[in-house]
Parts: sequence; C-alpha cells; structure tokens
Amino acid sequence: MKPFTGSFTQQEALDGEAIAAATAVLQSGRLHRYNTDPGELSKASELEQAYAAYQGARYCLACASGGYALAIALRAAGLKPGEAVLTNAFTLAPVPGAIAAAGGRPVLVEITQDLVLDLDDLARKAQASEARFLLLSNMRGHLADMERLAEIVREAGLTLIEDCAHTMGAAWNGRKSGSFGLAGCFSTQTYKHLNSGEGGLLTSDDAEFMARAIILSGSYMLYERHGAAPARDVFERIRLETPNMSGRMDNLRAAILLPQLARLEGNIRRWNERYRALEEGLAGVEGLVLPHRPAGESYVGSSIQFRLPGLGPHGCEAFVAACRALGVELKWFGAPEPQAFTSTHRSWTYVDPQHLPETDRVLAGLFDMRLPLTFSLDDCRHIAAIIALCARRVLAGDVAEAAQGAATAGHAD
Ligand SMILES: *Cc1c(COP(=O)(O)O)cnc(C)c1O
Repeated sequence: MKPFTGSFTQQEALDGEAIAAATAVLQSGRLHRYNTDPGELSKASELEQAYAAYQGARYCLACASGGYALAIALRAAGLKPGEAVLTNAFTLAPVPGAIAAAGGRPVLVEITQDLVLDLDDLARKAQASEARFLLLSNMRGHLADMERLAEIVREAGLTLIEDCAHTMGAAWNGRKSGSFGLAGCFSTQTYKHLNSGEGGLLTSDDAEFMARAIILSGSYMLYERHGAAPARDVFERIRLETPNMSGRMDNLRAAILLPQLARLEGNIRRWNERYRALEEGLAGVEGLVLPHRPAGESYVGSSIQFRLPGLGPHGCEAFVAACRALGVELKWFGAPEPQAFTSTHRSWTYVDPQHLPETDRVLAGLFDMRLPLTFSLDDCRHIAAIIALCARRVLAGDVAEAAQGAATAGHAD
C-alpha cells in the first residue's frame, strides 16, 4: 500500500477576505475591543452579534479561549469553592481544568461505547453527589439523547453548561448544540470549526448570567460596548460584586472569525463528506466498530473515532505503529501515558481518583483521527484503506506481519 503523505494538523489557509479584515484592524492600531472610535462597533462586538444570531441565542460573549469560557460560565452560574461538578469521564483536559480553575471538584460520569454521556450513570451520580452543575462535554462531536438528558437535568435540578468545542454547528432534532441549558461554550482554537489560533464564545439566554460573565471576562465598566449583551440595569445589580478575570477577545481575532462564520455551514458539509468517505471505507472491516450516529443527531465530522474492542494493548500499539508507518496518525486513548492532546481521567491526578470501569473499557480500544479540510475525498478513501488494511492484519493476529508491513513502508518513505 502506498503511504499517505498529508498532514493531520494542516488546516486550510485563511482566505483573502479574512486577511483583508485582519490588515484593516492592524492598520487601525485599535486591536483592543474597547478601543473604538465614537459610534464604532468593534469587531469583537460584531462577532458577538453574528454568533448570537447563528446560534439563536439572546446573548454572546467573545473571550480568550474555549476553556476560559467554560471556567467563567461555571463561576457566573454560581459555583462555590469545593462544589461538585458532574462531567464526562472522557473529555479533553481543559474541561476538568476549567472546573479546577473555577474552584470546583469534578465528579466523572461514565460514557457509553458510542462515546456519549451514560445517562443512567448521570441520573445515579446526580443523586449520590448532590451536585448542582453538569458540565456536559460533547466530546469529539457526539451528542447524547439531549431530550432525555434535559429531563434528567430538570428532575435532578441541575444547571446544564454545554462544552461545544466539537459541536459548533451541530444539532439534536433540529435544536442547536449549546442551547439545551444555561449556556453553550465554544472554541475558535485552530483545531476546531473556526480558526483564530485561540479564542472562545459563550452563549446564553439568561441576562444576569451573561452580565456576570461579561464582567468576569474583563469588561471593566465598558460593558455597554458589547454587541450582544443584556441591558444596563442588569449590570448595575452585579457589577461591583463580580471580579474582573481578564480574558477578553481582541479585534484582530474577531475580524478573522467573522468571514469564517459566514462560511461555516458550507464547511460543515465538506467535513461531513470527508467523514462519510472514511466511514464507508471502514464500515466493512470485521472487528472494527464505528460509533452509532442516531438519526436525531446532525453532527460535524471534523474528526472520526472507531474501536477495535478485540485487541489487547500490544495489538493496539502494533496497529498504531503500522498506521503511522503508512503515514496515518491515530490517537489511541488506551495508552498508559498521555501523549500530545490525548489524556484520560487517570492522568488528571489533581482530580480525586474515580472508579470508571465502563469508560476504561471503551478507551482501551478507542482510536481517533482529525479530518482537516485540506484532505480531499480521495485522501480520505486512501486513509480508510490504510486503516482497514492495518486493522485486518492486526486483528488476524498478524502483529508480526503488521509490524513487517510497517517496516517495509518505512523503507519506502
Ligand atoms: C479544545 C477543547 C476545549 C477547550 O478549548 P480551548 O479553546 O483550546 O481552550 C474544551 N473542550 C473540548 C472537548 C475541546 O476539544
């Protein structure tokens, strides 16, 4: 098999419109969001208006990162020091990190083999822990049954905050991810669905919550210059009791995000074409399990996950090595040590150790791959063929043959 030579970390270049918008901000010298001419709406405020409209939310705050949005959402929602926060046992490190930053204590909820929150475990732990908050991570873009989740949240009296880093643009039965609870948190970091290097967006329909979040983000007393903010009187009640935890977005990043937002829906279609090409290429491999995607879920296929549940740790290592030798970079969540972006609940030693047998079983055989839009559909078919070949070999017990294939491909490079 011919090795794949594309880069799994190469996103598309920013287009001329974004570059022109960035140049205009640079030429103005007014990069700070509150550094505006009289009557001028800053790019950060424009972005807040545009994103609120896209999301169908009343309010929006642009801030420094997705992780920052999560942390101030918890604070603005009233989390007290030492309080329990329910969250997914399988998520990215900034999620338990945001709970820690806000002074909370993560209580980890199991995931299912389809990589979503286990709602039975959620109901159990909501009772047992007396937690008031659920920080739901729609990890890798998979949505739980959101109607049932909302019901559990209601019954247990939980406040729901959604981590939508991988579900910007996704929906459940036509309702946008991020609109099921008090707040939605989004990331505009390079590897998500909009790219400003770093950046975050927080949406909500709750006026007092958003006023607190805006002050927390470092608005000083300039909150009236925000683009999608509640009325002045809401701020007057809370402005002096809310600390300034500086984490604003600047006009340069907002300027390059605006034209990208206008193209987001088109890009979602392009991601999903790539996802489906991969899915098709992997569907026939016996022993390889793709997560079930329910009919109600409109997802954004910016990454793909699959499991090889029959493979032990040596087999998984051999499989990753064989794919890598043919140019396909996979992340494996069963590795004993965290690598690059991959870590598991066992590596977060600042969190109380928790018994999560279901999650551990799923992660032991779970693989993940990004799908940047720089890949063509042919690239996706090629990658799928490589994964299928390596999986068949390793699953057939031909660890030696897979490694041999790897070595040969290594020479061919
Ligand atoms: C990237 C990511 C975040 C945090 O976003 P940053 O903007 O990098 O802080 C949170 N949750 C998940 C699941 C992510 O992938």
